[in-house]
Amino acid sequence: MVDPRRLVPRTDTVLGAPELADALAAYGREAVKAAVGVAQERVRAGSIAPNEVVNATLTALSPAATLRPVINATGVLVHTNLGRAALSEAARVAVVEAAGSTDVEFDLATGARARRGRGALAALAAAVPDAEAVHVVNNNAAALLLCALVLAPGREIVLSRGELVEIGDGFRIPELLASTGARLREVGTTNRTSLADYRGALGPDTGFVLKVHPSNFQVTGFTATVPVPELAGLGVPVVVDIGSGLLRPHPLLPDEPDASTMLRDGAALVTASGDKLLGGPQAGLIVGQKDLVEKLRRQPSARALRVDKLTLAALEATLTGPTVPVVRALELTADELRPRAERLAKALADKGIDASVVACASAVGGGGAPGVELPSWAVSLPEPYAAALRQATTPVVGYVRHGRCLLDLRTVEPAEDAAVEQAVLSLR
Ligand SMILES: *Cc1c(COP(=O)(O)O)cnc(C)c1O
Repeated sequence: MVDPRRLVPRTDTVLGAPELADALAAYGREAVKAAVGVAQERVRAGSIAPNEVVNATLTALSPAATLRPVINATGVLVHTNLGRAALSEAARVAVVEAAGSTDVEFDLATGARARRGRGALAALAAAVPDAEAVHVVNNNAAALLLCALVLAPGREIVLSRGELVEIGDGFRIPELLASTGARLREVGTTNRTSLADYRGALGPDTGFVLKVHPSNFQVTGFTATVPVPELAGLGVPVVVDIGSGLLRPHPLLPDEPDASTMLRDGAALVTASGDKLLGGPQAGLIVGQKDLVEKLRRQPSARALRVDKLTLAALEATLTGPTVPVVRALELTADELRPRAERLAKALADKGIDASVVACASAVGGGGAPGVELPSWAVSLPEPYAAALRQATTPVVGYVRHGRCLLDLRTVEPAEDAAVEQAVLSLR
C-alpha cells in the first residue's frame, strides 16, 4: 500500500490550479501558500483526500473559515445549533446587496434622513394587518426585555407557573425579565392556572400580564391554561410571546399560536422570533397597539437592541418573497420525499455502499410545535457515517437511530441532494 502522505500534492502544483487564480489575485501568493500548507497538513493527517487539496485551500482562505456551511439532514426544521432557519434565496441576495452603502436611513428623493428600516417595517405591517404598529429588535429575548423595561419598570409582571420557560443554553425567560428590575408575580401551578389566579394577583403594581408559549415542551394530563381572550378582559395589557413567529395560522400546526389571532383575541403586544417558523434572519418582532409600540421605540435601551441593515434586508425579503425554505420543508409530504430518498440510496448502493431507505419522523424543533411529528423518509447508512459525514468537505449532519446513520431528506434542500451523494462517496 502507498502511504497517503506520499500522495500530498506539491505546493507549486496546487498553486497552479486554475480554481486558485482568483484567490491568488485577491489574497496574494503568500496567503494562498499558507492556506495550501494547511490543506496539505490535512491530507497528511488523513482527514481529506489528496484530490481535495484545492477545495480545502479555498476553505482555509475564506474569511469565515470557522463558520462553515453545513447540510442539515437532521430532520429538525429549526435547528438552533445549525443556525435555525436557512435564509431564502431572495433574502440571501438582499443581504449581499445591502452589505455595501445602502439607503437604510436615507430618503433618496429628498436627501433627508428617513425612518430606519422602513421597508422591512412596512412588510411586517402588511403581513399582520391586525397590528396598529410594528417594531423589530435583535431577537425575541430583546423584544421581551424591551416590553419589561417599558411596561413594568419597578413593577410586576404576572405570569403563570406553567410558562416559566428555559429557552435553551441555560437562558430562562423569568430571569431575563427579572434582570430589568421588574418583579415576577407567579400565579397558578405547573399544570393548572385559572383566570381567578390572574385576577387575584392584579393590583396597583401590575405592569402587564405575560403569556409565554411553551414552545419546546408539553404539559399533558390534568392541565388548564387561560386563553388570551379571557386574559384580555382583565383590564391590564396582555403581552403574548408566541415564540415561533407564525404570523397567521398554519393548517399543519393547529396548536401553534400566531400573531394575527393573538391580536384579534385582545393581546396588546405580541413578540416572536424572526428565525424560527417565519424562516428569516435572527430578529425579534413586536406587533400590536400603536401607543405601546411607540413607547418601546422611544425607550433609550431600544438603541442597544436595534437590528442592522443586513437583518432588515433579509427580513423584508423573507416577508415579501416566495415561500421560505423552512415552510417549504414543513409542507413537503412523505410521498414527495420518498422518491428522493430512493434515488439517493440507489445511487449510493450502486457504488457498493450499504445504503437503504427508511421511514422516519421530522420535527419542527426548539422553534415551536413541540410534539408534532412530520412523517418523512431518510437514507440509512452504517452508523460510522454519522461522525464521518460531519467531517466531510461539505459537512452533512444526520443522526443515529437503532445503530444506523439516518439522513432525513425533509431538511435537505433538493438542490443539495447531489452534495450529500458526493459527501458520502468521498468517504469511501
Ligand atoms: C425561542 C423563544 C424565545 C427566544 O427567542 P430568540 O429569538 O432566540 O431570542 C423566547 N420565547 C419563546 C417562547 C421562544 O420559543
